[in-house]
Amino acid sequence: MSELADALRDVAQTLRHHRDLGMTEITRAASATPPPPAVDPAKTLAAQEAALQGCTLCKLCHSRTNIAFGSGSPRARLMVVGEGPGEEEDKQGKPFVGRAGQLLTKMLESVGFDRERDAYIANVVKCRPERNRNPEPDEVAACNPFLMAQLDTVRPAVILALGNFAAQTLLGTREGITKLRGRLYEYRDSVLVPTFHPAFLLRNPGPTYRRMAWDDLKLARREFDRLSGAPHPNPLP
Ligand code: URA
Repeated sequence: MSELADALRDVAQTLRHHRDLGMTEITRAASATPPPPAVDPAKTLAAQEAALQGCTLCKLCHSRTNIAFGSGSPRARLMVVGEGPGEEEDKQGKPFVGRAGQLLTKMLESVGFDRERDAYIANVVKCRPERNRNPEPDEVAACNPFLMAQLDTVRPAVILALGNFAAQTLLGTREGITKLRGRLYEYRDSVLVPTFHPAFLLRNPGPTYRRMAWDDLKLARREFDRLSGAPHPNPLP
């Protein structure tokens, strides 16, 4: 009985959080039944990206140059989720291609992942907020179906959530990343691993946070190995 009460309390907290984010309906993606696998994830993602061109669903359409939809392998077993495009991402129309992106590439490589081969990378919002401010609730709500569609298409075994914003949005919590990181969360059909955003690591250099991030990456890699039947070509350092 008390477990049921705890579970219902968690559901209520998540629903309240989504309501506060401005969401007015629960998408099919949040249901317990996983969608059937996409026939060709590359084609499906390309169609989603095409459908998003010229999007005016939120005010970020006024500050963007290009939509940074996603990049990497459509069949990846690892999906990386960040916050939103920065200046360089906005110019190139691709996520994580600026300084934080370069560090992300190195972070993934530190546990044997090649970002193009092993990962699919996307953001909570696909358009750059002006002066890199945090995305606002109505912007997150407008973009949420596109992130959910990407997750449904790629169907990753492991999701690496980068920073407060991605982790809190996906997990429906206000807990900070320092508290959230270091453990695994069930997220729909995937295991979610929260860790520090590379931009945070650039702003806070030094071994302490880097070591914690590396621990998280090793956790992600171990889950990846456990959940993907085939052995990964690069050994875990
Ligand atoms: N920060 C993010 O969260 N995403 C990007 O694509 C780039 C920087």
